[in-house]
Amino acid sequence: MSSIDNVVVLGMGVLGSQIAFQSAYFGKEVTAYDISDEAVAAGRERFATLATRYAQDLTDGEEKAGGVPDLIRTTSDLAEAVRGADLVIEAVPEALEIKQATYRKLAEVADAGTVFATNSSTLLPSDISPSTGRPERFLALHFANEIWLHNTAEVMPGPGTDASVVEEVTAFAEEIGMVPIVLRREKSGYVLNSLLVPLLDAAAELWVGDYADIETVDKTWRLGTGAPAGPFQIYDVVGLTTAYNIASANPDPGHQAFAARLKAEYIDQGKLGVATGEGFYKYG
Ligand code: NAD
Repeated sequence: MSSIDNVVVLGMGVLGSQIAFQSAYFGKEVTAYDISDEAVAAGRERFATLATRYAQDLTDGEEKAGGVPDLIRTTSDLAEAVRGADLVIEAVPEALEIKQATYRKLAEVADAGTVFATNSSTLLPSDISPSTGRPERFLALHFANEIWLHNTAEVMPGPGTDASVVEEVTAFAEEIGMVPIVLRREKSGYVLNSLLVPLLDAAAELWVGDYADIETVDKTWRLGTGAPAGPFQIYDVVGLTTAYNIASANPDPGHQAFAARLKAEYIDQGKLGVATGEGFYKYG
């Protein structure tokens, strides 16, 4: 068992609202913080939507999820939010300056013993830890979108993180229904994206270079490895807008060609993946 009971989530956006909800659903005492009363109100609306999703998707959801939003304390006052916290999970926007400024403020108001964890997808703990004032009590705890369904929690220490903090946060992740994926040291992409991104890039190259069509690529991956889904089926789940944003930001000509073709053949036609009923494949 961890000694983490009192959890604070910074940022009530897409992921922060899910992390707060999941933690409260599993009986933790949760406070969610965002920068303004308007942002807090938007986060509260996310909690209501999540209650519906948990009720639909989880076997005990109907009985438990409806009451969860009322269990989560919310505030736009950082000092009040973090008073007495065992763990602060930060899910503010993915920009280094915003993260650094957030941690500098947090370090001033949090108790000395509070552990800080970042949910950053692309920044490393060592990018952020100098701003935390407590590198030994700071690490990454990375959730996937729709955490109640995709329940991995990647636990990644920075160079200065205490081993006991890694153990505590790993135990906490289990207590809120996650499967902890513990890295020994920091690596961009954690475990999942270190595996997934090269696969998705290779699939894009096969398609853009007109070596094979999408069905052939997916069928090959499924039959050859026993995996349930091929890379283009995975693109549809991730969402083609995300795939486009990542590819178009990469100056490599192969990525640029993939972005252009995604835009012309899918995004401009409103085919954004599973979420819109059609992407590389049709759904529903
Ligand atoms: P988001 O834009 O949906 O939410 C960010 C929230 O942070 C907003 O509610 C915003 O009001 C708030 N915010 C802005 N500035 C702030 C500040 N200074 N202090 C506190 N809150 C502030 O973003 P998101 O998609 O939830 O991503 C948040 C983090 O989670 C990022 O680091 C991202 O890499 C990571 N992440 C996102 C996903 C995903 O699928 N969206 C998956 C895994 C990890």
